[in-house]
Order: sequence, then structure tokens, then C-alpha cells
Amino acid sequence: MEITKNIALVAHDHRKKDIIEWVQWNYELLLQHRLICTGTTGKLIEETLKAKLNDTGRHIEIKRLKSGPLGGDQQIGSMIVQGEIDCMIFLWDPMTPQPHDVDVKALLRIAVLYNIPIACNRSTADFLISSPIMNRVYNPVLKDYSGYIERQV
Ligand code: PGA
Repeated sequence: MEITKNIALVAHDHRKKDIIEWVQWNYELLLQHRLICTGTTGKLIEETLKAKLNDTGRHIEIKRLKSGPLGGDQQIGSMIVQGEIDCMIFLWDPMTPQPHDVDVKALLRIAVLYNIPIACNRSTADFLISSPIMNRVYNPVLKDYSGYIERQV
């Protein structure tokens, strides 16, 4: 991971208010990084940052993927596998069943497998974004799966 991080941001519908408030609170720290978002979350974050940055001339790069239920979670999962995501803020909804529940589970699994930092609530997101490691080069330790890759089947 380089000094400038690729941060994935995803929020389920009932958590969108939370992610917007969180972005409003932390936008100065986010300015130093690149953001990758699922479709609707990204749209809301873009509008929020536009309003915050207004005519300051400052800018945050935001990549918007498909909406989560239309494959956006899977796109983020694929980017994690490719080493294109350094950490993830994923405000998933613990109170509402999701049509793409299997994708949510798959995304969380792949994020754990590749040992990227994940925040699933606002407090953890605050700890993550304010960590001194966010502004340093950092290489997550990856388990050695060579035994698995070379297994006899
Ligand atoms: P959305 O997707 O940002 O397009 O709403 C989020 C999700 O439900 O995974």
C-alpha cells in the first residue's frame, strides 16, 4: 500500500445517512486518498464533497462502480483480489435483509482473506481514517496459500 490509499466506500440504504455524515466529518482526511464507491453511495458522496469543497479548487478522485445489488459489491471484491483496494469502509445494515446478501458475504470474506482493513461501523471508520498508518506505506501480511495452490486433488 502506497501513501495515497485506495479506499472503498459502501453503505446500505439505511446506512447512507451515516456514511454521508461520516464523510462530512472526515473529508479533510479523505482528500489525501482516492475513493472507490458502489453506485448510489458514490453519487451521494460526490454530491456531499462537491458541497463541502465548493470553490476551494480542491478535489477528490472518486471512482463509481455499479450499484451494490447490480454487481458493485462484486466489482469491489474483484478489485481487492487485484490489489487495487487498500481498505474498506462498509456500513452494512444489520437490521434489513438485502437482495444481494450473498454478494455482501462474499465481499466481507474476500476482504478478510486479503487482510485489508475493514470498518463496518462509524466508530471503526473513525479509528481507521485517523490511524497514522493511513499516511505511510504499509504492506499487509498475507497468509501463505502455496500449500493450498499446490494441493493434490
Ligand atoms: P449502492 O450499493 O451504493 O449502489 O446503494 C450499496 C450496496 O447495497 O451494496
